[in-house]
Amino acid sequence: MRDTSMNYFIVFQGQSYTDARSGGYLWAPTKNEQSQTFHYWTSMTKVLKGDLIFNSVGGLLLDLITATEDNKEQEKPINFDRNESWRNHGWYVKADYIRVNNPIRYIDYKDDISKLQAQIHAPFNINGGGNQGYLYEISEQFADFLLGLIGHSRPDEVDIIQQIENELPPDLDTTEKERIVKTRIGQGIFKTKLLKFGCNCKLCPINNIDFLTASHTKPWKDSNNHERLDEYNGFLLCPAHNTLFDRGYISFNDDGRIMVSKFLDDQSIMFLNVQVDKVIDLLEGHKKYLTHHRESVFKQ
Ligand SMILES: [Zn+2]
Repeated sequence: MRDTSMNYFIVFQGQSYTDARSGGYLWAPTKNEQSQTFHYWTSMTKVLKGDLIFNSVGGLLLDLITATEDNKEQEKPINFDRNESWRNHGWYVKADYIRVNNPIRYIDYKDDISKLQAQIHAPFNINGGGNQGYLYEISEQFADFLLGLIGHSRPDEVDIIQQIENELPPDLDTTEKERIVKTRIGQGIFKTKLLKFGCNCKLCPINNIDFLTASHTKPWKDSNNHERLDEYNGFLLCPAHNTLFDRGYISFNDDGRIMVSKFLDDQSIMFLNVQVDKVIDLLEGHKKYLTHHRESVFKQ
């Protein structure tokens, strides 16, 4: 276990796929017959509980795989790929496979992928085909991109929050719990959902994804696990606007018109770029959360 952000991977599976899927695991040998090992096998040692792995079978993203335990050394499972040049000793990860509703072909996105993947140990070649290997670590940005393409949804995402919370000491205070859970899920699921509405700050043109935070309207501590992941319960905001919204110096009425707290001084209004006549687009789903924000967060 660790409380840093989650890791993401792409796994290429061939004839072993059916067995691995039905058995609920990933497996790679530590060495081949010639005692050689490869980065796409040793990458198995980086997989920890809660990590997300994108499956590739025949060039398709077919499943989202969640590691349900940390990696461990274990003999090759019976039935697994009978490739005789592999030794039997290997790394094993217990995993949940979730079928993707809209499988995508990686090659259709090869230009985006070539920009998003690392230069070293890249999962795909310049023609968009998979490199000859098993497991490749990818960046959170790359993972966000893929989640966006397949409609992002993870049926177990609410369970994951619950699971992580259950593992924490019960006497931990709420702020600390929130910090750990958010770091563990990398803010990724919620942020990906918000990206559907556009990839810039709700209040200004900043569109560098590194600077955008998925900011909750009804605060995390007051929300249940469904509300914590509801894309209507928040906005993507740049650092300045996130701070102002999070601490209640600004809010919005049901028409989307900005409300500015009387406690916000003119200097801050000017230099934190608060446009006092700003109106944002709202959908029906946003409104109940904004009611909560106005009543419980906004500094009247
Ligand atoms: Zn902004």
